[in-house]
Amino acid sequence: MIIIGAGFAGLCMAIKLKQAGINDFLILEQDAEAGGTWWANSYPGCACDVQSHLYSYSFEPNPDWSHMFGRQPEILGYQRHCVEKYGLSPYLRLSSAVTCAAFQEREQRWHVETDDGARYRAPVLVAATGGLSRPALPDIPGLDRFEGEIFHSARWDHDYPLAGKRVAVIGTGASAIQFVPAIAPAVGHLYLFQRTPPWILPRPDRMISRFERWLFKRWPVTQRIFRSLLYWRLESRAVVFTVWPRLGVAIEAMARRHIRRGIPDPALRKQVTPDYPAGCKRVLLSDDYYPTLNRTNVDLVTDPIREITATGLVMADGHETKVDAIILGTGFQATAPLPPGVIVGRGGLDITERWSGGIEAFKGISVSGFPNLFILNGPNTGLGHNSVIFMLEAQVRYVMDGLAAMEQSGVGALEVRPAVEANFNRHLQRRLARTVWASGCRSWYLDANGRNVTLWPGFTVEYWWRTRRFRLRDYQTPAPPAPAAQQQAA
Ligand code: NAP
Repeated sequence: MIIIGAGFAGLCMAIKLKQAGINDFLILEQDAEAGGTWWANSYPGCACDVQSHLYSYSFEPNPDWSHMFGRQPEILGYQRHCVEKYGLSPYLRLSSAVTCAAFQEREQRWHVETDDGARYRAPVLVAATGGLSRPALPDIPGLDRFEGEIFHSARWDHDYPLAGKRVAVIGTGASAIQFVPAIAPAVGHLYLFQRTPPWILPRPDRMISRFERWLFKRWPVTQRIFRSLLYWRLESRAVVFTVWPRLGVAIEAMARRHIRRGIPDPALRKQVTPDYPAGCKRVLLSDDYYPTLNRTNVDLVTDPIREITATGLVMADGHETKVDAIILGTGFQATAPLPPGVIVGRGGLDITERWSGGIEAFKGISVSGFPNLFILNGPNTGLGHNSVIFMLEAQVRYVMDGLAAMEQSGVGALEVRPAVEANFNRHLQRRLARTVWASGCRSWYLDANGRNVTLWPGFTVEYWWRTRRFRLRDYQTPAPPAPAAQQQAA
């Protein structure tokens, strides 16, 4: 098996393979270290907004989390610990970006090439490339003309000294609201360009006390109970997002109070107050974002950016703000998680062509036309309310069950039946149309056609239930190659 990506998903897959006694696999990772999103996102203030006791593997509890919400270095440290404890280093090929993985029909093997010229062949391919790994650059004219420093939040340039500089930040999403408070005290002046304000709630963070850590170590069952309590508390939030979106008014009331407490200036309060239902975009958590906006060296700019010049940003009214650096907190290509040419299925079909009408998969994992390909954190498996680690553990269990089913049935290749896949997605989209995410705002959850292709429409327990068994009858052995393809292969 070839696993692409050594983030939480790829590492989980590798651990479960090893535990099942399967050792003939490799993990190809484009970055210089394992960690995935927690390696790529090293911006100041980077942290997780799901509690660490839940945002970690169920089978590898860490009694030593220092805070309720883990900081990026601590989460990366946890991943390093997993690599070491489960002996994954020999299976890792770092700084190896996959340039093409193509399914060879006659051989029923995936042929995989990396940018360092290496070639591999494997019957099974796992794409654990992450839903939020391709930075999205804003479509603002002149972006490439800027002559100062410019970088995306997921490609932070730690060598660039921000101290004393005039800095523009574009975007006010989950990333920006974390790094803006972290850099504001150091920069000369910060201009924060907001297109749409997010709903923000207080962040119930705290240190985990020495007593609690001792307790978790001494009686691991206490940590399991703690994790379960966190899980069910977060799980209950699915009610607001997917069952009764009108309950979102309670979130809005709390968020409005948070604004009043954090910002004294009525004009500024108005600018940061969203005009769409809470939950439509991701609800964010922060205690230091609003106070940062009160700083004398921070300006919130809500006028649309017309263009970027060599020296700064020009507003719709023609006024130019000159800056030394621009930081793009503009998010990720969540609805186009894979670039063209990288995953090529049966009959030379590129996965981006297969997805030209929007990304979709069966249970977020299998795509028709792509035999023996399993996607982790795939289409419609993201969450607005709970830990994605729960989802990916369910996916890995499903893949393991699929491998066992292949072994038992003796078939060399399996491909999801197109009708099964289409039926699954029709049902999914019908449900998504009734959720808060379809209430009319622009968000990264929706693709260009306005379809929600990123989030799971209900409770995570339901996803767990639906993925607990790999049903062979949902799959078929791929059709034999067309004569032309056969000739080509010969
Ligand atoms: P994001 O939520 O997609 O935010 C992107 C921001 O950039 C939005 O404010 C967006 O405005 C703005 N933007 C995009 N294009 C623009 C343009 N052309 N002109 C002006 N503004 C533009 O991205 P993110 O903050 O990187 O977060 C992405 C996701 O990653 C999160 O939702 C979350 O799932 C995950 N994440 C989690 C954490 C955490 O756990 N704490 C931290 C970071 C990221 P509009 O709203 O108007 O589109």
